[in-house]
Amino acid sequence: MIKLGNNRGKFIYKIRKQSGVNFSECLHCTTCTNSCPFLEGMDYYPNVVLRLIQMGMEKEVLESSTIWICVGCNTCCNYCPMAIDIPAVMDSLRHLALKRKVRIAEPDILNFHREVLNTVEKYGRTHKLEIMLRYKLKKKDFLSDMGVGIKMLKKRKLDLTPSKVKDEDAIERIFKK
Ligand code: SF4
Ligand code: SF4
Repeated sequence: MIKLGNNRGKFIYKIRKQSGVNFSECLHCTTCTNSCPFLEGMDYYPNVVLRLIQMGMEKEVLESSTIWICVGCNTCCNYCPMAIDIPAVMDSLRHLALKRKVRIAEPDILNFHREVLNTVEKYGRTHKLEIMLRYKLKKKDFLSDMGVGIKMLKKRKLDLTPSKVKDEDAIERIFKK
């Protein structure tokens, strides 16, 4: 017999309110899953994540790798017959996972997101070289991807110095919010 989560109602309400998505309309047709290009790294398929939320399986959902592997490419919602915004749901789940301090299934991806945000806060835009170096420093891994980095430098895809946006105050306001 399947056991529903204890705080099922509260969990569903929270994710629904935060994401603005009515996932109870999901038909479980699996079209989203069949269209997702990132399935291989996921422990639960996107439609299964919705089913787990409906069942109130909070721990399983918040500790899943799927919520971090999803890149928000929107492919799934473009094909969904009910136009369910799965990326918005994944976003809410990531927020809640951080708030609840649960075990993060993909800490490297979280660290990478943090480094991207760091450079946006500093310069108003991303600085790829700094993101890569800070991320590598955190992982203490300097040798993997070296070839890719050199190729990007050669093709001038990596700026050595960062450039800043003119309206720095606007960026500061956004981050304060
Ligand atoms: S495509 Fe839409 S309706 Fe079908 S399973 Fe995915 S979210 Fe549910
Ligand atoms: S938004 Fe996420 S779940 Fe949807 S197709 Fe892209 S990676 Fe897959």
